[in-house]
Amino acid sequence: MSITIIRNASVFDGVNEELAHDSDVIVENGTIREVAQGRSKVSADLEIDAGGRTLLPGLIDAHVHLFAVHLVASKNLHYPLTLLTAKALPRIRNMLERGFTSVRDVSGADFGIRQALAEGLIVGPRAFVGGPGLTQTGGHGDHRRRTDSSLDRNREADGVDFQSRIVDGPEQMRQVVRDELRKGADHIKLMASGGVGSPNDAIEDWQFSEEEIRMACREAAAKGKYVVAHTYASSAVQRAVKYGVRTVEHCNLIDRETAAIVRDHNAFVVPTLVCYEVTEQHGDSLGLSPYVMEKLAFVNEGGIRLLEHCEAEGTIMGFGTDLMGEMEYAQSMEFVIRARVQKPVDVLRSATSINAKIVQMEGKLGVIREGAIADIILVDGNPLDNIALLDGQGENIPVILQEGRVFRNRLAAESAGNI
Ligand SMILES: [Zn+2]
Repeated sequence: MSITIIRNASVFDGVNEELAHDSDVIVENGTIREVAQGRSKVSADLEIDAGGRTLLPGLIDAHVHLFAVHLVASKNLHYPLTLLTAKALPRIRNMLERGFTSVRDVSGADFGIRQALAEGLIVGPRAFVGGPGLTQTGGHGDHRRRTDSSLDRNREADGVDFQSRIVDGPEQMRQVVRDELRKGADHIKLMASGGVGSPNDAIEDWQFSEEEIRMACREAAAKGKYVVAHTYASSAVQRAVKYGVRTVEHCNLIDRETAAIVRDHNAFVVPTLVCYEVTEQHGDSLGLSPYVMEKLAFVNEGGIRLLEHCEAEGTIMGFGTDLMGEMEYAQSMEFVIRARVQKPVDVLRSATSINAKIVQMEGKLGVIREGAIADIILVDGNPLDNIALLDGQGENIPVILQEGRVFRNRLAAESAGNI
């Protein structure tokens, strides 16, 4: 039995706007045993004096691609999975360095990487995985060139096919969704509209038929899982939630009426604004085509209006980033972008308690309360006043606990240095 106490912290519990000042948080074997007001008498194996710093639940990013090691997906072509994994390792670790103790991967990561992270073989956040993103022929996840007419893609052998799987027709959808659930998917990802990075489709395109989407949702629900959909325009978002999709991603082009429809279907919007802003800055030099750059500028413009519509309608928003390749460094800039419209506390709720609901871990992750998993970060200063403290590479996060284990404790180094 191992007990850690973090003393004298100002606790943001993932929900309440009021910080609980002067609190001691007691962690026992990876779980939060107690959040005590004032000085706890429990004796611990490790004591960390927070010195009044803000204590938060570990952050959760609900839209990442651990294996998107290049901005342009087709560059992964002919990568063996060993090389792909090796290239992904630093980006996975960097997410934890920024305070993200959990991530939801929405196309690419499989049960193998989830298990390697859970066993501590790889340093990084806890991962919720869905396997490959499912795409129709010619859809957002179909990365074949126009001259490539091969249908039999062997995803196990190639870095591109590992990240998406082509599915056409409700019967094939039934079989593929069952197959991905058999392999341990935590959710199923559908490409339900055109996208920015894909060379052959328009943003406004609908993808997958009603029958295909309903089939995926039905099969996922039968196993207690749910469907995540990539969508941009109002019509694509509306049909996704009406057919049973639980989280709609990006949604940059939706109108206010659509935000209300998402709310009425108890679905979540997961904006991923930073990826457009940062990719637009660097896309030209990284080899994006003029057509892709044009699409990028179009969706980037819609992002702020999306936040306003969701705020106005009370639509619940998760927190995602969707950064590919070299853009990955900008993950925490999403906090700052969201705060252009939202209150910092609402952005933090998205990245903690709301994202925990999205990954079906309500009360276990994303909250500081008795019985929750002890994913904890300490921040220098108060991010509810200044959310930019979370931006960067974790410079203002001196302590990170992952399921009770110390990943980082710069305060220990400080006090040792003072002796
Ligand atoms: Zn994505």
